Amino acid sequence: MKIAFISAHSCPVGDLGTRDTGGMSVYIRELARELGKKGHIIDIYTRVHDPVDPRMEDLSAGVRLIHLKAGKLTKIQKMDVYFSLPEFTFNLDNYWKDNGLEYDIVFTHYWMSALVGKYFWQTRHIPYITMYHTLGAVKNAIGIGEDEPALRIASERETIQDCRSIIVATEREKQDLLRYYNAAEGKIDVVPCGVNMELFKPVEKMTARQKLGMADEKILLFVGRIDPLKGIDKLIQTMPLLKKYWNLRLVVVGGDEDSRAELEKLKKLSNELNIQDSVDFRGLVKQEQLPYYYSAADVCVVPSYYESFGLVPLEALACGTPVVATDVGDLRNIIKTGETGCIVADNSPEKLAESIFFLLSQSSLDTEYKFSIRASVSKWDWTNIAEKIAQEMKLVLDSRLVSVA
Ligand code: UDP
Repeated sequence: MKIAFISAHSCPVGDLGTRDTGGMSVYIRELARELGKKGHIIDIYTRVHDPVDPRMEDLSAGVRLIHLKAGKLTKIQKMDVYFSLPEFTFNLDNYWKDNGLEYDIVFTHYWMSALVGKYFWQTRHIPYITMYHTLGAVKNAIGIGEDEPALRIASERETIQDCRSIIVATEREKQDLLRYYNAAEGKIDVVPCGVNMELFKPVEKMTARQKLGMADEKILLFVGRIDPLKGIDKLIQTMPLLKKYWNLRLVVVGGDEDSRAELEKLKKLSNELNIQDSVDFRGLVKQEQLPYYYSAADVCVVPSYYESFGLVPLEALACGTPVVATDVGDLRNIIKTGETGCIVADNSPEKLAESIFFLLSQSSLDTEYKFSIRASVSKWDWTNIAEKIAQEMKLVLDSRLVSVA
């Protein structure tokens, strides 16, 4: 198949763990690479985020990334991306015409790109499938952080009706689509996200700690965007409950200049609780370095109020590290409580502390146990996930032939 991926809002090769880029970029990059390996042709379209962005670059076999001008040639606010969508769509249309490009199917990511998909369905009759990654109405219902604009929810409603198929990563997200958007059940397909098992592998704990300059103490790890929805404040509040038992350190990975205000709040909270010397904010870390962080940690904690899926827990488990997480995204299917970590009903510091205490009290994990944690997530390897997505695309194309006939 010839597939156009549209990711107008975020560049899949940009930094991860910034305020706005994380799991979705990983998803696009990894899925495209696996589909490319299977012989499909994938062009990923995004806007120019930096004047030095190359027009076109080869990412891997069969996969190209193409930058199109839309608005300023720099990083811009999310809503400014929305207002630059007409220019993005116009430039995309011309790029296809100028280069004689044709696609079987368009796969759009996030609500803004779905609007671009809708345009090409209406003008060229190319079917589009879409993945929203997060849904505005669901975020607003949770009510943590900034409100999502009505414009977003209206755009989601419009494209949910119009697209050929909606990929969601969890059964829970499917229920959200039915409940908040009255989506047609038959067009929703649940395909989980994946993990790169080649990249995320266990490293011997002391080797990892030495590399990262970490001491021989109990280490809790948070990895992700610094966003109020991630519940990092709750994890910081958990620290005083546990510190009386061990020399304990919390390592927080993620966050760039745009996350400064949120980071300042978290640092202030650590000061108020007098644990500032036990919390390390490490900022953005390249994914290639993350296996060291996961392997250095005793427990990875995911105290989120909401996750569309939750890649970080999969990555931690692939590195053999147990995870304590709230019951969000698909985590109840990924983490086996009592075996590979614990699912907690909510992110209250008391509940988090209880589960973390349980895991930290286990005698040091032996190699066999680490590899059993890793083995528990092998079915989420991207190769398997890409196969399922390819099947879904074929179904959409076949049903189109039937409806045309
Ligand atoms: N990540 C990273 N470096 C960082 C912080 C995060 O590479 O400093 C990556 C992490 O490996 C994961 C992704 O960003 O793949 C976050 O995905 P997740 O699904 O956990 O959260 P989302 O960003 O979708 O809310």
